[in-house]
Amino acid sequence: MEWSRPRRNDVGVSNRPEGPKGECSVSENALPAAKSARSERIAARTRGENWKKPPRRIETSECITCDSCLRSCPEEFGAIFDRGLDVVIIPELCSGCPACVLECPVDCIYVDEDWQPTDASLWSHIDLSAGTS
Ligand code: SF4
Ligand code: SF4
Repeated sequence: MEWSRPRRNDVGVSNRPEGPKGECSVSENALPAAKSARSERIAARTRGENWKKPPRRIETSECITCDSCLRSCPEEFGAIFDRGLDVVIIPELCSGCPACVLECPVDCIYVDEDWQPTDASLWSHIDLSAGTS
């Protein structure tokens, strides 16, 4: 199964204004370090140590698979994947920022206080897609 992620030059992270959406953005100069940090989280399969917010989750029964959230997740997190039949947030990669929530047309992205570690089978897809984001 092949998962898709947004084209990175569509995201425009460094162009985001300050404000609710800007809180999870990084400057252009900091982006390589941020992407490296994402790679480290993928390798360790753990969330950022300094993240205070819980991750988000997508309620599949409400999601219309429009991919708006996928395009809005900042590059330094890259936590949302389209698996074909559904769209998922990987909690270990999700800072809870919550840029995606602001873009969802049906408001189906919820706080996931009781998140569970991602299955090894899912990580294999994430490992494959890491570095292409
Ligand atoms: S809250 Fe949404 S936009 Fe923010 S990191 Fe998590 S999945 Fe990405
Ligand atoms: S923006 Fe909302 S409806 Fe669209 S794919 Fe994401 S979670 Fe689903």
